[in-house]
Amino acid sequence: MNKTDKIISQAQKEGRKILLEPEAKAICMDYGINVTKFNVAKTAEEAVKFAEKIKYPVVLKIVSQDVIHKSDAGGVIINLKTKEDVQAAYARILENVRKYKADARITGVLVQEMAAQATEVIIGSIKDPQFGQTLMFGLGGIFVELLKDVTFRVAPITEQEAAEMIVAVKAYPLLNGYRNTPAADVKALVNLLMCVSKLVMDHPEIKELDLNPVMAYEKGATTVDARIILE
Ligand code: ADP
Ligand code: MG
Repeated sequence: MNKTDKIISQAQKEGRKILLEPEAKAICMDYGINVTKFNVAKTAEEAVKFAEKIKYPVVLKIVSQDVIHKSDAGGVIINLKTKEDVQAAYARILENVRKYKADARITGVLVQEMAAQATEVIIGSIKDPQFGQTLMFGLGGIFVELLKDVTFRVAPITEQEAAEMIVAVKAYPLLNGYRNTPAADVKALVNLLMCVSKLVMDHPEIKELDLNPVMAYEKGATTVDARIILE
């Protein structure tokens, strides 16, 4: 059994359909997808130890099967630069989440590398009852949420189709460089779509996948948040 199979079957054994961010990211890594370095801390001291290993600045996030949208619960604090920042954020996240959902089951607090700001993109997949695994691409924020500016292709896709998915969004000029924003590495995004295509084709038990956001850099791309929902 490979790493991805192990993570999925463990969640199934525990009756969980939503994988935790560290589980979803470990699966991403197994498929060659670049994610922010991370570790799950169980105490504030451990969080500090991991932050020092990962190197400041770091981001802290709640790890709970009962909190799907982490920032809605006050469960994400970014740009922590010192030991004191990490200790305070650790306590605050637990407090926020308990206020949001008193009986939330908490696995720990994820300490992760803070990714540099960039144009944010979203890569997803949904299992369509008719077409099966279907991939989605769009730019982050208002482009997907408000303008529904997204493209879809049925998996598995070819590199050519992956490139088409990217170029076909209306917001594509933003990836192509404008004013003082450099062009994004479209090849890295094509590669990322190919990895996701392989992942969901290998695992028909994945019902939904959401890499949101992915930072699209001038060179390379980094997945900052990952969610996987099982059937
Ligand atoms: P959720 O989508 O569950 O609310 P995210 O993990 O996506 O939580 O975090 C919310 C936002 O915080 C992201 O959209 C991103 O803008 C920012 N963020 C999260 N993690 C990082 C990180 N490692 N580096 C930089 N920004 C981050
Ligand atoms: Mg997110």
